[in-house]
Amino acid sequence: MKAYASRSQVLSYQECPRRRYFEYEIPTSNPQLGGIRLSRLDMNLHTGSCYHTGMEALNRGQSVEEAVGLALEDFWPKCKAQGLILEANEDASYVAYEQASMVEALIRAYAIAILPGNLARFDIVEVETEDVGLFQQGDFDLHFGARLDGLLIEKSTQDIFIQNFKTTKEWGKKSDDSTRHDMQGLSETAVVDQRLVRWHEALDSSQYERGGSSDPGELLYPLLPNSRVEYRNPQGQMELIPAWFVTRFLTGASPYVFGVKMEFALKGRRSESPRGSGRYAYSNPLIRPWKKADDLKSFGGRAGNYAFKYDFQDDLGGNHRLGKGWNSVNIWEDMGVKNWIELLASETLQGFPPMTALINQFVLPEEYCRNEEDIERWKRQVIGQERKIAIAKLEFAAQTIPAFADHEAALDQHFPMHTRSCDWPTKCVFQPICFGPKAYLVAPESSGLYSIREANHPTEVEFNQGE
Ligand code: SF4
Repeated sequence: MKAYASRSQVLSYQECPRRRYFEYEIPTSNPQLGGIRLSRLDMNLHTGSCYHTGMEALNRGQSVEEAVGLALEDFWPKCKAQGLILEANEDASYVAYEQASMVEALIRAYAIAILPGNLARFDIVEVETEDVGLFQQGDFDLHFGARLDGLLIEKSTQDIFIQNFKTTKEWGKKSDDSTRHDMQGLSETAVVDQRLVRWHEALDSSQYERGGSSDPGELLYPLLPNSRVEYRNPQGQMELIPAWFVTRFLTGASPYVFGVKMEFALKGRRSESPRGSGRYAYSNPLIRPWKKADDLKSFGGRAGNYAFKYDFQDDLGGNHRLGKGWNSVNIWEDMGVKNWIELLASETLQGFPPMTALINQFVLPEEYCRNEEDIERWKRQVIGQERKIAIAKLEFAAQTIPAFADHEAALDQHFPMHTRSCDWPTKCVFQPICFGPKAYLVAPESSGLYSIREANHPTEVEFNQGE
């Protein structure tokens, strides 16, 4: 028996097995892919995905203008075609421009405030790699898909790090703790390790085979640094080992991932504005700073009329508050995102040196170093869970019949509802199916609310095509 899973599928089941069924398993008119999603766009997911597009471009060495351009090309067409999920009173146009500005501001700020430090410390050797690991237990093969935002080599140590970009509302101790317990680092480490060990072993054996000698001390045709090596992998496919890995191999370094580097971009809190209006706005100084009213303009030049903190402390610890005459502005309707980010990068504001506001919008926790015990525990648990789901799917398919009551009884047995996840931490998008007309259980697409999902990983489509 074999199955495919990814981190988001594993988490979906852990939050609610019924959600996993709707999100990834329910048969659809696409025979290659089960699962549905809301037809409208989830704002957080869409903004996060477009931010990733920009980060990918920056990591590939493209300019910030190109990165912003690509991210917004990703943002607008989908936003216009599908629309965002909004509350009843929200202004769709405002939210769309706010989110587009957020994507642009975070990419511009990252390019100025964070990227140069990363490039000084690391070589970025891979960007947006799709990987699939194979984990086996008895007669069960689990193909596990993962996508790396970046693979980094620390210049001073040659240690390998997986880089992970995230957008999040705020940061606190809880976020730090939960990141340390998050499985993402473990799953990606386990998957990438397999590929790097495979390359390492292929290079190790190729040195002796090429020389036509079984004597490990005699290398007649040694590998050269910066050369690429093609070899046939265990699945019989030709695979290219990149030059960076060959060069690193020749230093005698081990092939394992050393740690995971998480990089968080802070979007800020979203709250009702004005209170009681039913409309919401983000508090994020990169897109909604404060500006002095026109009749109070100061002599501090252009920068003197703007602020990125409402409450702040001076050098001597004195507390200050902006007070009367300062208003929150949408920067995209004012000087524009580009000009504002450049002003924050180059001028002193409220007594803070240039760059302060940009740096404050990112959290780079200390890298999480690999732990063998955690990785092995993760593998056992995920293989066990996904084997159970594969069996449940087979039994459910054999048992299910169109009568709604029987269909629901079979679902209850194999994909139970974890109702504590219905409303927390956010309202589950499948509530109309779980608590609406029974017909939706069998054919949720008939509600008009849902569409067939798109695969997160191309490796999932390839796996399903091979079935
Ligand atoms: S609405 Fe509740 S029970 Fe239904 S899928 Fe969502 S979390 Fe699960």
